[in-house]
Amino acid sequence: MANDITADILIIGTGVAGAIAGAKLAAKGLSVAFLETGKRIDRYEAVEKFWNAKIKVPESAYPNDPTASHPLTHRIEDFYQQTGPELFRSTYIKVVGGTTWHWLGTTLRNLPSDFKLKTLYGHGVDWPISYDDLEPFYLAAENEIGVAGDSAEDLGSPRSGEFPMPQIPMTYLDKHFASALDGTAYQVRATPQGRNSVFHGDRPECCGNNSCIPICPIQAKYDATVHVALAEQAGAKVHEQTTATGLNVGEDGEIASVDFRRADGTTGTASGKVVIVAAHALETPRLLLNSAQEKAPNGVSNSSDQVGRNLMDHPSRLSWAMAAEPVWPYRGPLATSGIENLRDGEFRKERGAFRIEIGNDGHSWPTGAPTTTASDLAAQGLRGEELDAAIKDLTSRQIRLASLIEQSPDAENRVTLDPKKRDANGVPLPRIHYDFDEYTRKGLDAAEAAHNEVFAALGATDVQHSSVIQGSGHIIGTVRMGSDAGSAVVDADQRSFDHRNLFLLGSGTFPTSATANPTLTIAALSLRSVDAIAASVK
Ligand SMILES: Cc1cc2nc3c(=O)[nH]c(=O)nc-3n(C[C@H](O)[C@H](O)[C@H](O)COP(=O)(O)OP(=O)(O)OC[C@H]3O[C@@H](n4cnc5c(N)ncnc54)[C@H](O)[C@@H]3O)c2cc1C
Ligand code: SF4
Repeated sequence: MANDITADILIIGTGVAGAIAGAKLAAKGLSVAFLETGKRIDRYEAVEKFWNAKIKVPESAYPNDPTASHPLTHRIEDFYQQTGPELFRSTYIKVVGGTTWHWLGTTLRNLPSDFKLKTLYGHGVDWPISYDDLEPFYLAAENEIGVAGDSAEDLGSPRSGEFPMPQIPMTYLDKHFASALDGTAYQVRATPQGRNSVFHGDRPECCGNNSCIPICPIQAKYDATVHVALAEQAGAKVHEQTTATGLNVGEDGEIASVDFRRADGTTGTASGKVVIVAAHALETPRLLLNSAQEKAPNGVSNSSDQVGRNLMDHPSRLSWAMAAEPVWPYRGPLATSGIENLRDGEFRKERGAFRIEIGNDGHSWPTGAPTTTASDLAAQGLRGEELDAAIKDLTSRQIRLASLIEQSPDAENRVTLDPKKRDANGVPLPRIHYDFDEYTRKGLDAAEAAHNEVFAALGATDVQHSSVIQGSGHIIGTVRMGSDAGSAVVDADQRSFDHRNLFLLGSGTFPTSATANPTLTIAALSLRSVDAIAASVK
């Protein structure tokens, strides 16, 4: 195998975690090379694919490429080898730019208390950094991503500066919720979002077409190709359709090289003075575990036996109902407001906290509406004007809530390697053991009770709760950060305790899940690691 690629910084993965760090490191004059298993996406073609797809799931714009295979929402047991007792339902995609292609774009910060859950509430673990340590990087991340938000609104996370853009306007539906809930425990607030509310960063403002998942046709919504392009402009090289299959440890304990396989079947090795694995919280441990060797018998960076453990998500309680009057969903981004004041309190000694997302997407998530609404009514025998009026009445009143629950870190919830099944690159498929503890289940129950109260305040009818505990697409915790090498995989700079020149970026390093959607925190932590990474180039 030839050593085909060398750089100061070798980054595995071009998602937001890797791309944002790569862009900053390249701008410092360091040579940067990315290994990326996926292809580049043509936005126009991807939009066409989505519109023509018979099954509309988050991955429908991004066909599953055999040499960069990923999980699919509607066939969740194909790629993940699940051993139960619960199914892990969150997915990701493998393309240049990573999973931000089909993220929603919610960009809340964690709360200060999220960093010290153990100290304050005796549950989970503390982070090795505080909110104050991360705050300047949250502000920088909001500027990098381009977040629209209301700087005057107190969302519980103190700010040292303003959002770069004004908030995305609340919809008529949001305002209906806000006025019905005024004076109750449920405070409706505009949610900060990684999408343009005004022309910004050479990208247009959001025009409200409601297809953010799986794709923004006009790139008003941020995706990591923004930072891939910035990295390339600063000289970085992206090796697409090139999958890292193993990390090799040298005599000095550092990562000496990385084995890769190209989509055409050829193989090679790459090396960097510093190696960053930013392959997302499922693929990062998968790669480290697949790199077991004499100098790292349990897998790379796994002397603590924590790699792959503590897998978390924000399990979602999904509920839907019919509003008493038209509230006009299906307009604007998929969610523009939420109830954010339930994310902290003494109750966290006993049960998980949650935030409530107010959907602008009618019943499309739980039932496949509005297409299914029309076909159900037609099946009931309605035709012509009568059918038209019924569709209008029902779709104008469809409302849904999803609560994102704080899940506990649990060492038994883990990713390992399947002993038999391998992907087209010869890498074992991920095996997942997953469950919810009492703390998390009590959070789910409390969310359901809250949804009932919210719907009651609106005078809504036909309330339904999903029998399935949904995933939120938030994969967290598999290479945890800590201050003790015995119980964590990386330190506060996201540097491996075992290999000085190895950094692991992304939500895999979060010690606890908190309730904020993770990507802004991923970006802030990546920005915070840049100086430590640059200083490690010898
Ligand atoms: C439907 C959905 C909605 C979401 N909405 C939100 C939201 O509103 N707000 C929020 O904060 N978060 C949201 N998320 C989560 C968010 O998308 C992720 O947290 C984020 O994109 C993760 O970024 P990352 O860079 O760590 O990983 P990724 O973006 O997944 O990037 C990892 C990259 O590594 C590449 N890769 C993987 N393995 C290898 C390998 N062996 N060799 C080479 N390359 C490799 C992949 O192809 C990929 O490009 C959502 C997720 C989903 C699924
Ligand atoms: S509503 Fe449309 S324009 Fe706005 S972010 Fe979503 S997909 Fe893009």
